Amino acid sequence: MLAAIVPVISAGVPLSCQRGATVVREEVLDYGPLLDKTPIVRVLLVNDKREAQLAIHSCYQITGSLMNIIDQGQGLQRCTISVSNGGIMIGNKRYNNSELRIAGQQDGEIEVNNQRYRGEIRIVQQFHNKFSIIGEIDIEDFVSGVVGSEMPSSWEEDALCAQSVAVRTYVMYKKKRRRDEVYHLDMQELAYKGVAGETPRVNKMVQETKGVVMVYNWNIFPAYFHSTCGGHTEDVSHVFGKDSMPPLSGVVCNYCNDSKHSYWSKDIRKAEIEKKLQEANVPVSNISAVKIVNPGAGNHGSKVEITYDKGSKEMNANDFRLLVGPNYLHSTAFDSRSNGKSITFSGTGWGHAVGLCQYGAQGMAQKGFSWTAILKHYYPKIELVRVY
Ligand SMILES: [Zn+2]
Repeated sequence: MLAAIVPVISAGVPLSCQRGATVVREEVLDYGPLLDKTPIVRVLLVNDKREAQLAIHSCYQITGSLMNIIDQGQGLQRCTISVSNGGIMIGNKRYNNSELRIAGQQDGEIEVNNQRYRGEIRIVQQFHNKFSIIGEIDIEDFVSGVVGSEMPSSWEEDALCAQSVAVRTYVMYKKKRRRDEVYHLDMQELAYKGVAGETPRVNKMVQETKGVVMVYNWNIFPAYFHSTCGGHTEDVSHVFGKDSMPPLSGVVCNYCNDSKHSYWSKDIRKAEIEKKLQEANVPVSNISAVKIVNPGAGNHGSKVEITYDKGSKEMNANDFRLLVGPNYLHSTAFDSRSNGKSITFSGTGWGHAVGLCQYGAQGMAQKGFSWTAILKHYYPKIELVRVY
């Protein structure tokens, strides 16, 4: 979408950004009217379940797939959504539709599984009496919810602004990639707590960068981010096996030294690792060692080698980290040592280490760098453009 539109515009207008007593004037190219309205992002809130809880705290309207109004009310007490005999049940009320769209009168008053969301929701029937729920959310509201869930709202304004642009860019990339699919993003990809993630301070910083995204060669790209790199971010090809590109190629980071995640050590039981690998169809037994293979510029392995009773096996290191659990294995930059029934992992940083280092962004902001400088450090060779 963006790649197709941006090249026809030849000149950008610098956008000045005033905050408090300081004026930050940076080269954000202002393509403000490029998209005629703020995009809507489709987010998978509930995936293929038999039950979910719904409550609505304002007047609401329910429409079918043809957008015909089939019900409305003044509010809805907490009740259960389910599917039976080809119809969608909301509490005891039955709708003979394969899909329902619910819009509240006031933004943020639709509650699904105790989480409040802005925008509208769609309940879509799946096979075997299951259904999914997709939120259709204004991208700026969604970015606020994610930034507030990803970063403490007490952090420096420029760190919050940098995070906002990274999230918006990532979301716009996904929206472009999955434009013909039922949803653009699922809840596994980004931390998102709905309205609960928003705070006035976060909303203000998101608003300050409204519509600003990063492009490389006038293409939007997946602007990955993570908690703490530990000294050097990694190339996207090294971690995810995707094509390398300058903005995701890895840079020195001297700004995350103060992160509480700089160093970590965890004992993980071998039986626990074996169980998780077996559940993911990686059959291993009696593990004796797990070592990183081919460490990158920041010491994150691209693969791990697992030694077990029948030999050894290699797998993508980040996949291994996520399988074992990111709360146990914080990063793939580790040394390990066998310890009887467990393996002791000692490592640096938290996360996959590609793109923006969040603690690094906070460190740069504390040293006085602007959000545009922070983004240009972590994503080399990008342009910042405002597209709506
Ligand atoms: Zn860092």
